[in-house]
Amino acid sequence: TLSPDHEDFLDVDAELAEQERDIRDAVREFAKDRLAPHVGDWFEHGRLPARELAVEFGKLGVFGMHLDGYGCAGTTATAYAVACRELEAVDSGLRSFVSVQGSLAMKAIHRWGSEDHRAEWLPRMAAGEAIGCFGLTEPDAGSDPGSMRTRARRDGTDWILDGTKMWITNGSVADVAVVWAQTGDGVRGFVVPTDTPGFSAPEIEHKLSLRASVTSELVLDGVRLPDSAAFPEVRGLRGPLTCLNEARFGILAGVVGAARTCYLAARDYTLVREQFGRPLAAFQLTQRKLADMVVEVNRASLLALQVSRLSDTGRLHHNHVSVGKLANVRAALDVARSARTLLGANGISLEYPVMRHMANLETVLTYEGTEEMHALSIGQAVTGIPAFR
Ligand code: FAD
Repeated sequence: TLSPDHEDFLDVDAELAEQERDIRDAVREFAKDRLAPHVGDWFEHGRLPARELAVEFGKLGVFGMHLDGYGCAGTTATAYAVACRELEAVDSGLRSFVSVQGSLAMKAIHRWGSEDHRAEWLPRMAAGEAIGCFGLTEPDAGSDPGSMRTRARRDGTDWILDGTKMWITNGSVADVAVVWAQTGDGVRGFVVPTDTPGFSAPEIEHKLSLRASVTSELVLDGVRLPDSAAFPEVRGLRGPLTCLNEARFGILAGVVGAARTCYLAARDYTLVREQFGRPLAAFQLTQRKLADMVVEVNRASLLALQVSRLSDTGRLHHNHVSVGKLANVRAALDVARSARTLLGANGISLEYPVMRHMANLETVLTYEGTEEMHALSIGQAVTGIPAFR
């Protein structure tokens, strides 16, 4: 019998279809050649060549890859999950770029937009010629988006939008913003071209996490839009939550990549680094840590595969995604923190990927529903009692 592969110990990828494996290989190669050599620099300087990367991601075919039509690839959810994993193996910020474009902005337009919205934006977004962002969070409305203050009011047949969105990925580089706002008729979504007068998107500085990602404030100061800018049918939080569920799906798969990179870095390092006349990997305490990492990475990988298959067979419930996001982000953070200790002082350096991943995962723990929100959601599912307020 063959001994297990240290990179995929439980041989989880053998469960993938051939096309899913081809996509994995293509994204992995792109990530290795085009992203990995630069990501430390992008992170250190807090600058991402977003325009250039968008076109390259478009060519790779990862923007909205799981959507159908309008220039999107229409792959399985499993293939999308694997692509997210391979991108996040390099950096959570790069996976965020792809999730926000595909699962939040494009998905919102694809699912809730008018035919005109879809035809105008989706082909360009799939190709990476147009960048999208998704504005739900506000300075005073995070976990409780229903308390948002951004308002859209009528002026004749036009809409006027006023308010502020906060922590919006890709905001400053976006061509189009999907903005959620209160109306007399509940929360509605609006397609806002970012060159509309009254719209601005200052970048948020001083982040210590997700530095290889653009994060912005959106300021809407009397932004006038035609009637047709609103999503025609959807009302209430169901609109944004549909999209968030898909983006969270990308996260629960993505973080497996971050965890894998941290584990492999720790393995490689401890095999070479010697103290007390032996490689660190020869100490029992080190092997215990590596074994725990193998367990966590593989358990997370299996969980991601199961959630992917639930999605591909039309059985996915948002609580499945809550279990996956909660479990896998926690696992990835545990792996990253443990790997950090094994690298000793080098563990705190950007010369190694571990602390960058660890810092990024603090964002991943918080965005798209904090760990506590997902716990409450699972708690409600198994007790029937909502404990959110
Ligand atoms: P809060 O809601 O204030 O929560 C603070 C703490 O209180 C958390 O631990 C939370 O779990 C806890 N808490 C809150 N309510 C309860 C409760 N009822 N019971 C127990 N504990 C509770 N948003 C977007 O709309 N679009 C984006 O593109 C986007 N990108 C982001 C990128 C980055 C880098 C970051 C950091 C955030 C991004 N976000 C985005 C925002 C993100 O989704 C929010 O930060 C998140 O929803 C949490 O909201 P908050 O930060 O206001 O925290």
